Amino acid sequence: MSFCSFFGGEVYKDHFKPGMYVCSQCNNPLFSSRSKFPHSSPWPAFTETIKEDSVTKMMESLTAFKVLCGKCGNGLGHEFVNDGPEEGISRF
Ligand SMILES: [Zn+2]
Repeated sequence: MSFCSFFGGEVYKDHFKPGMYVCSQCNNPLFSSRSKFPHSSPWPAFTETIKEDSVTKMMESLTAFKVLCGKCGNGLGHEFVNDGPEEGISRF
C-alpha cells in the first residue's frame, strides 16, 4: 500500500530530507520521511503512518481508500490497493 497525499502539494514530491509530515490543520503527526518513496504520481507517497491511528481510511472504490487525518478529519489524499515501492510488500 502507499499513501499519495495532497498536503504540502507537489513541493514535497522530491523532498527527501529527514523529518516528519504533520496534518496541515491540526499538526497531528502523520508520516515519517523514512517511509517516503518516489512515486509516479505528482504527490508525496508513503509506505506507512507514524501511528496506527494517525489517519482514518474510508473505502472509496475497489482500488482506493480515502485518507483523512485521524484527529481532525482533514482530507489528506488516497491510499491505493496493491501500490507500493516493492512487489509483495504491504499487500492486503
Ligand atoms: Zn488533522
